[in-house]
Amino acid sequence: MSRPRLALALVIVILVAAFFAVGGQRYLSFETIKAQQGALLDYYASHAWQTALGFFLVYVAVTGLSLPGAALMTLIAGAIFGLLWGTVIVSFASSIGATLAFLVSRFLLRDWVQQRFGRALRAVNEGVEREGAFYLFTLRLIPAVPFFVINLALGLTPIRAATFYWVSQVGMLAGTIVYVNAGTQLAAIDSPAEILSPGLLGAFVLLGLFPLLAKKALDIVKARRVYGRWKRPARFERNLVVIGAGSAGLVSAYIAAAVRAKVTLIEKHRMGGDCLNTGCVPSKALIKSARVLTEIRRASQYGLKSASVEFDFADVMERVQRVVRTVAPHDSAARYTELGVECLQGEATIVSPWEVEVKLAAGETRRLTTRAIVIAAGARPFVPPIPGIDQVGCLTSDTVWGLRELPRRLVVLGGGPIGCELAQCFARFGAKVTQVEMLPRIMVREDPEISEMVMHKFREEGIEVLVGHKAKAFRVENGEKVLITEHAGGEVRIAFDALLCAVGRVANTEGYGLEALGVPVTRQRTIETNEFLQTPYPNIYACGDVAGPYQFTHTAAHQAWYAAVNALFGRLWRSRADYSVIPWATFTDPEVARVGLNETEAKERGVRYEVSTYGIDELDRAITDEEAHGVVKVLTVPGKDRILGVTIVGAHAGDLIAEFVAAMRHGLGLKKILGTIHIYPTLAEANKYAAGVWKKAHAPQGLLRAVERFHGWMRGG
Ligand SMILES: Cc1cc2nc3c(=O)[nH]c(=O)nc-3n(C[C@H](O)[C@H](O)[C@H](O)COP(=O)(O)OP(=O)(O)OC[C@H]3O[C@@H](n4cnc5c(N)ncnc54)[C@H](O)[C@@H]3O)c2cc1C
Repeated sequence: MSRPRLALALVIVILVAAFFAVGGQRYLSFETIKAQQGALLDYYASHAWQTALGFFLVYVAVTGLSLPGAALMTLIAGAIFGLLWGTVIVSFASSIGATLAFLVSRFLLRDWVQQRFGRALRAVNEGVEREGAFYLFTLRLIPAVPFFVINLALGLTPIRAATFYWVSQVGMLAGTIVYVNAGTQLAAIDSPAEILSPGLLGAFVLLGLFPLLAKKALDIVKARRVYGRWKRPARFERNLVVIGAGSAGLVSAYIAAAVRAKVTLIEKHRMGGDCLNTGCVPSKALIKSARVLTEIRRASQYGLKSASVEFDFADVMERVQRVVRTVAPHDSAARYTELGVECLQGEATIVSPWEVEVKLAAGETRRLTTRAIVIAAGARPFVPPIPGIDQVGCLTSDTVWGLRELPRRLVVLGGGPIGCELAQCFARFGAKVTQVEMLPRIMVREDPEISEMVMHKFREEGIEVLVGHKAKAFRVENGEKVLITEHAGGEVRIAFDALLCAVGRVANTEGYGLEALGVPVTRQRTIETNEFLQTPYPNIYACGDVAGPYQFTHTAAHQAWYAAVNALFGRLWRSRADYSVIPWATFTDPEVARVGLNETEAKERGVRYEVSTYGIDELDRAITDEEAHGVVKVLTVPGKDRILGVTIVGAHAGDLIAEFVAAMRHGLGLKKILGTIHIYPTLAEANKYAAGVWKKAHAPQGLLRAVERFHGWMRGG
């Protein structure tokens, strides 16, 4: 605990102890109050405002310190100041005192609680951020929930202090009036319990539930409003229509068929979507060919005198297509039809919340009725509107697979994962690659030294990596294509033969009915969905690249499960998409894989952490494989083995990270990884050694000194 926190905790402990030591609880007993009522009234008659001020301050102190007696003091307020002034004084004093207790709890404990239980509390935090005011209002209206418990508990959540204050002030008003009013009749009451009769308590509970019920009613009204202008079919031919047969659409359709729903999957282009046809599969096939080529060129490092390789780039690209064709049956219409999915080849348009029109490839149009729709329409490469770009022509991850001739000089615009993977491939095949990134480094989502490792390797392999270069214009000068970039206040000109644009991907949200429906898009231009992946039309869901925020095949499939299950069973039970442990990898050489937080993010979010780093250059298997480079970098909670995030750089990093993904997903710490037998010699041992680095740093020094003395004693010394 930090010094200011310790000091505050000490002050509070002293004040609370002093209260009990002087018998404060006796003064705040019902009997004492009743006995002293006359004296109190006399004092008030002669010292009106001093009494009010003193009472106010004591009330704030009692509630701020979470001492028992707030209810009694409210009665006293009624007895001394009457209904109006009693209510005014108590209303403000209790809200201020509650907010003080809230702030104290927040200052002393929130960081600790959030760090310790942050992952488990994620849903609670999000719920409080979204609907915290409603919940607080409900709790405040029900006087049966202890006042101090609410103050202290809410301090641990992300609710804003100002919201807490005003909701408390408004929410407690009804209860305050009841108590103050009872106080005006103090002589007639024998115990505080009498104030809350079962009937009155019931009324408060109903009052408390009112905001929640009102919110639910509001949700229904909102849904009615979005559906209002559409005519709902009397019955539905299908339970689910899925638009797009990429990673997300295929999984949604698969789940629906598996639970025996009637589902139709519509794809306008190629089954398998981007991942199979223009994304993961072809890129990884190309990476493998480029890697083999590099390995052959490194023959001497393996003790082989000479090895040479001849290749035709067109053959390499043909192989890539062969790989795509080999994987294609997994995603084919034939396979999904066999699984029970109706597959339609055609372009889908949503014409009403329950109807999808399909322009079939054969030219005919069909209108399908469905209870629910899953939109899985994916994303496409973004081509920035840089002057002259149309003149020079631009390859993207959609079109690059059609190349059969290696460009002599290639400019790759963009330093993200796709740009990096493709830049390295083309350079390895022999293109003179210039990678242009406007930000200060490539792979900007990773920590700076991780970007640096990749950038170093790229430069070693002959790629010209230009960071901090903003593409300004393209020109054709004397028949030569030129990119003009802005750099450090000046201009840099780069001549090239082909341009590959990899500056991001934009979700497909236009041209298939979303505009007419009024489905909103986010600032990132993805479809706006709630945590259940619902659009504002509760029966229309979106998942995968079209919904974001992640753009990976595994996240698309993960979301698709939630979208399909919620779409089919949402009336009974809905599940929130869980993004707590999302891994990813960039398949450059060295590979970079990550799960959870890295240092940059931890700093940005103010999460305290410790770093344990293991250099893969020391790993036996990496040395035998001539792959002795890279790092396993683990962030943990200070003093604990709980993993906050891991970044791995090196050969097969994308595979190695799986152990940490499982550990984080199931709450296993580094000690468990250290206590697991890893096969020797494998790259996976790097994970264990990283856990060992953590353990060494946390070795119990006192115990080790004692054991050392014990050994000395055993030696007779
Ligand atoms: C070069 C590259 C490499 C990548 N590498 C990886 C990787 O290694 N690992 C990884 O996890 N991710 C990778 N990705 C990302 C991955 O490909 C995507 O995240 C994933 O394909 C998203 O799946 P999806 O189903 O959301 O969209 P898509 O796969 O794009 O599928 C959407 C489908 O919807 C169809 N469609 C759209 N509108 C309509 C309509 N109106 N009617 C009918 N059909 C329609 C489209 O034709 C398309 O087939 C890579 C991407 C690229 C470009």
